[in-house]
Amino acid sequence: MEVLMDDIRGMVVLLPGLQLLVDVLRERGWTVIGPTVRDGVVVHAEIESVDQLPRGVGDVQDSGSYRLCQRGDEAVFRYVVGPQSWKSLLFPSRELLWSGRQTGAEMEVEPADIDPPRLALLGVRSCDLHALGIHDTVLARRSAPDAAYVSRREDNFIIAVTCSDPGGTCFCVSMGTGPVPDRGFDLALTELIDADGHRFLVQPGSDCGEEILDELTTRATGDEVLNAARSDRDAAREVGAAAAQRMGRSLDTDGLRDLLYANAEHPQWDDVASRCLACTNCTLVCPTCFCTSVEDVSDLSGTETERWRVWDSCFNKDFSYLHGGSVRSSVPSRYRQWATHKLASWMDQFGTSGCVGCGRCITWCPAAIDITAEVGAIRSGEG
Ligand code: SF4
Ligand code: SF4
Repeated sequence: MEVLMDDIRGMVVLLPGLQLLVDVLRERGWTVIGPTVRDGVVVHAEIESVDQLPRGVGDVQDSGSYRLCQRGDEAVFRYVVGPQSWKSLLFPSRELLWSGRQTGAEMEVEPADIDPPRLALLGVRSCDLHALGIHDTVLARRSAPDAAYVSRREDNFIIAVTCSDPGGTCFCVSMGTGPVPDRGFDLALTELIDADGHRFLVQPGSDCGEEILDELTTRATGDEVLNAARSDRDAAREVGAAAAQRMGRSLDTDGLRDLLYANAEHPQWDDVASRCLACTNCTLVCPTCFCTSVEDVSDLSGTETERWRVWDSCFNKDFSYLHGGSVRSSVPSRYRQWATHKLASWMDQFGTSGCVGCGRCITWCPAAIDITAEVGAIRSGEG
């Protein structure tokens, strides 16, 4: 459902009101996962207090480059996206499928327990909301849904945040996925810092979000939760509009699918492959990549065994190994496979682009390879 933010009611909460939101969600049984700073990056972790949020922290991102910076204000959501997407939580990099034990001539096999906590995700950007929607299509709506993913997604409470300071590698406007959340959330926040102070416009996007907002209003003891004024809505609209004008990158998507299909032999694939290390970073940080392989692990006695599903990547030569060899043995063919799947064949397979313009693959590429530049070179005919 697409939500028209101008048409729905809103409340303004101050930082203590945001704490009240965290408290209410925890009391109702959700584990709240929000942004925190660890090892020089913004990562997702369980939080109990708004003091754990990255207060006053911004980031500077470019091809192959990410640095945190101090903003000199009290903002808690004015960084961009970090290396982790929400797929790390909902579709983890290693997952036990089953374990087995041999007793005599018998083999007992036990499927892995699927009993995830109820997750409330705080600070989800619009690009990542669209990525969640893509994973829902790929993993949950197929004929044999991924039971573990479905179970982790069930009963999520999602608090989206409007991007205010897009990064140097962001291009969500080109992909139609941001910067203002338009679907798939329970509450949407816009952080406002101006002459009227530091506050958050909070708008509901679901019945559950409405209910939580009502509880905040009922439980507020002072002015930490207030009705939004027209000026708050105007200021929030301005935050989203200004962010849309400040994208670090852009990608011309006009006819992109057909362009890539028509250029399978373009020399740019060799050019990019001469720089690409086939390190897989771009696929691991991408919020929509979902390729996996399976590992069987047994103990030294050979009586206990486990089967794990692990993230894999189309940049690995062995990923396309069939009987007798790898289908994509060269790096040019692997980069072409990745970019063409994201931006072209994903549409035929799942009905949308596989790219949401989050920019992570550009920021976290050690060779500073930029998918918007590579595709732009193909479009312009510069081989
Ligand atoms: S494009 Fe960059 S991140 Fe991706 S595999 Fe090549 S070197 Fe690694
Ligand atoms: S391909 Fe790159 S920009 Fe697009 S969703 Fe994946 S990581 Fe983000």
